[in-house]
Amino acid sequence: MSGRYLRVRELLREPGVQRHDEGAFALEPAGLTSAALRDDRDVTYGLTLEARGGRVTVRGSAAGEWSGPCRRCLQETRGEVVADVDEIFETGATPGETWPITDGCIDLEPVLREALLLELPLAPLCRDDCAGPAPDRYPTTVDDAGAAPARDPRWAALDDLDIDERSDQ
Ligand SMILES: [Zn+2]
Repeated sequence: MSGRYLRVRELLREPGVQRHDEGAFALEPAGLTSAALRDDRDVTYGLTLEARGGRVTVRGSAAGEWSGPCRRCLQETRGEVVADVDEIFETGATPGETWPITDGCIDLEPVLREALLLELPLAPLCRDDCAGPAPDRYPTTVDDAGAAPARDPRWAALDDLDIDERSDQ
């Protein structure tokens, strides 16, 4: 098992050779939405590294755990988040495009943190049918109590966008 730093010096001397790494490490505290990645649980990853032209491509997936308040009842809620990883590392990296190779090593922490943050739920629910803190006094909307909430057609457009982005990677 590897940690957040992976040596790539040997890999750079053998272009085209693939190496598989699996590992786990604790993230630094961070969170973009009301849900935050838990820094008391390791993120895990399974990645394939390959050097080409002085760069190292890193592909695979990462998984972590998040916690945050339910948007209806505010109770602490937890879940797992999984993200695809497809990134390029190089010496003299371009911020926003590639990640740095420093002293023959790459640091997975900022890469996996960014990938997982993008997959966090924007508005967590403790369970799909959570009725809120006092359902008798403050019932949620008819849609929430009924079988299938009507979907805003704009969300369907977002779903399509998501699929397109993944197939491009
Ligand atoms: Zn709830």
